[in-house]
Amino acid sequence: MAGAKTTEESIIQWIQRHAPQRPESSVRLGIGDDCAIIRPPSEAFEMVVTTDQVIENKHFLRDSHPAGALGRKLLARGLSDLAAMGAAPAWMLLSLGLPDWARGDWLEQFLSEMFDSIRALDPGGELVLAGGDLSAAERFTGHITACGTVPRGRALQRAGGRIGDRIYVSGALGGSALGLQRLLAGGVADETDPAVDRHLRPTPLLALGSALREAGVSAAIDLSDGLSSDLGRLAKASGLQAVVDAGDVPLFPGASRQQALHGGEEYELLFTAPAGLALPERLAGSDIRPIGELRAGEGVVLREQGRETPLAEAGFDHFRSANSSS
Ligand SMILES: [Mg+2]
Repeated sequence: MAGAKTTEESIIQWIQRHAPQRPESSVRLGIGDDCAIIRPPSEAFEMVVTTDQVIENKHFLRDSHPAGALGRKLLARGLSDLAAMGAAPAWMLLSLGLPDWARGDWLEQFLSEMFDSIRALDPGGELVLAGGDLSAAERFTGHITACGTVPRGRALQRAGGRIGDRIYVSGALGGSALGLQRLLAGGVADETDPAVDRHLRPTPLLALGSALREAGVSAAIDLSDGLSSDLGRLAKASGLQAVVDAGDVPLFPGASRQQALHGGEEYELLFTAPAGLALPERLAGSDIRPIGELRAGEGVVLREQGRETPLAEAGFDHFRSANSSS
C-alpha cells in the first residue's frame, strides 16, 4: 500500500486483492457495491451476529501494540463471540477510522495479519470479508461485525445453566493480563514471551465452541472481560449462583491469582455442563478444567479451604489492571 498517497479507493482495491476469497461461501456479492448480498442458510440453520471494536488508547496503545497483532485481535474479538455460541463463522464486515499515521505500511500490516489469521483459523471454511467502511479519524478505531451459522435451536447461550451443573474453563488464565503488564513495563516488547504473545495475538476457539455444542454443554460465554465478570454474567443469565473452587482455577505460567480471576482478553471459553455429562480433559486442542458448580442464589462465590467469600466483579480496565500491583 503506497504510504502518503493512500486513498480510500486504493485501500479498498488493496483489500479486494488480499482478502481471502471463498467462491462457495454464503456471500453472493461482496466488497464493491452499496450492500453485500448474502445467501440465507437453509431452514436447518440460524444465524448469530455480533459486533466488537478496538479504540486507540482504550483497547491498545500505538507504541506498545504492533499493527499486525491489533488486526488479529480485532478479528479474535468477533470470532470468539461466535465460538461462545457454538457457531461456524460465515461472513464479516470491517469498518475502520484511520488517522494519517495509520495509513500505508501500518494499515497493510494490520490487514495482512488479520487476513492470514482468517486463512489459518478457517482453512476449509467460509468466512468472507463481505464489506465495510473507511473514514478519516483523529484516533484509530476498528469495528468488526461477524456473522456465523449454527444448527437451528442449538446455539449455546449464557442462560442455559441449571442447578448442579459443573462450571468448566478451557486453557489457563491470567496470561493476557500478565503479558500486558510486561508489555507496558517499558523497553522493547519481547514478542517471544508466551504471556506477551497471548496478550497480543489471542486465538478464538471456534473448533472448541462447536465441539462443546455437539457434546451437549448447557451454557457458555467467552472470557473477554475476565472470569469474575464473565462468570457473573453467565450466573445472572441462568438465574443462579456460581461457586468457584479457588485452587482449581488453572493459572497461566507466571500469572497471579488476581490476574487469573480478573484479567481480561483471555478468549478462553467458560461453560457449564450437567454433572452427569462426561467431558474429556482435552477437547479440540484445549485443556478442559472443572472449576466449580452452579447452585441456587446469585453472584459469584470463591471457595477455599471450606471458606466462601463473594468474588466481586473487578470491572475490567486494561490499563488500570496492568498498572496496579495485583
Ligand atoms: Mg463475548
